[in-house]
Amino acid sequence: MRLDKAHVSPSSPSVLAQLEGIQDRFRTALSGLDSELALRTARAELLGKKGELTAILRGMAQVPPDQKKQVGEAVNRVREELEAIFEAALVDLKRKQRAAELAGPPFDLSMPGRPIPRGHRHPVSLVMDEVLDIFRSLGFEIAWGPEVELEVNNFEKLAFPPDHPATDMQDTFWVDVAGAPAKWRTLLRTHTSSVQVREMSDHGPPLALVSGGAVYRRDDDVTHSPMFHQIEGFYVARDVSFAELKGVLTAFTQRLYGESTPIRFRPSYFPFVEPGAEADVGCVFCSEEDGTRAACRVCKGTGWLEVLGCGMIHPSVLTATGIDPEWYSGFAFGLGVERIAMLRYGIPDIRVLFENDPRFLAQF
Ligand SMILES: [Zn+2]
Repeated sequence: MRLDKAHVSPSSPSVLAQLEGIQDRFRTALSGLDSELALRTARAELLGKKGELTAILRGMAQVPPDQKKQVGEAVNRVREELEAIFEAALVDLKRKQRAAELAGPPFDLSMPGRPIPRGHRHPVSLVMDEVLDIFRSLGFEIAWGPEVELEVNNFEKLAFPPDHPATDMQDTFWVDVAGAPAKWRTLLRTHTSSVQVREMSDHGPPLALVSGGAVYRRDDDVTHSPMFHQIEGFYVARDVSFAELKGVLTAFTQRLYGESTPIRFRPSYFPFVEPGAEADVGCVFCSEEDGTRAACRVCKGTGWLEVLGCGMIHPSVLTATGIDPEWYSGFAFGLGVERIAMLRYGIPDIRVLFENDPRFLAQF
């Protein structure tokens, strides 16, 4: 029962009359409740800020001064009694609940727990490790470089002409550093070739290094992601020839796709190599023998899959990194890790690799 101010009479007998029997009503009301929440709600309705007892207390203002002490003591005594009734009801409820628990069926301690799902490596990391491992076994060392790179390491020292389309605002994420001079212009590296530049600038030949990691370009569609992973490698020493390039990359692709996988090299243009080539491997999804080739969507019926770019390092790149091209030569290669992962696992859309959908990731 709630009483608002309008129902409270201003005289002291009225206040005392209102307190009359309030304990009994409260005790009876609580005895029918079977949850702690219900008990606390009933207590708030009586003793809370908007509760019945609080409303009665407001009537104290109108009590004649000579009666205030008597009425005040009565109100306080009733409040204490109500609190005691509430505490006793709460204790009683908890005792009953505990007794019911003990009388009920026991917990089955032998039931298995909920398993904690274990994570595993991302398909891009799996493929990257596998590729780096193969090159390590072929005698290459692994090198790492920063993802935020100087423009000079990303473009200039690789003999990109200043007006090359790859340097356009369209293709590159520039990093603005307030007040930095032009020679410290920075960007998110667009390829891992910058690691090659750093290593060649820091150490003299012979060098056989491979590096991998995230690179960034302003691309976003079914086969391009603004962030993707590359692996690049190079070998610089005396008398390095194109035959060595073919030998190393043939050994690599056969270890990755199997001994019998054919590989071919097609002439192609890359700004920092001369001559340059693209390497294709025989399609791993179809074969001429069983007649699946013509319908193969991955190689579009050609029987070949493009897997990497390569070439002999351009003499101007060697010169820009302090290596004498009259004395040394070298080859370089690069491949997209997502491309290899998509071919390896038959993934049609590059974007699912980065959506972090557990239904996809759980398949590896
Ligand atoms: Zn095919």
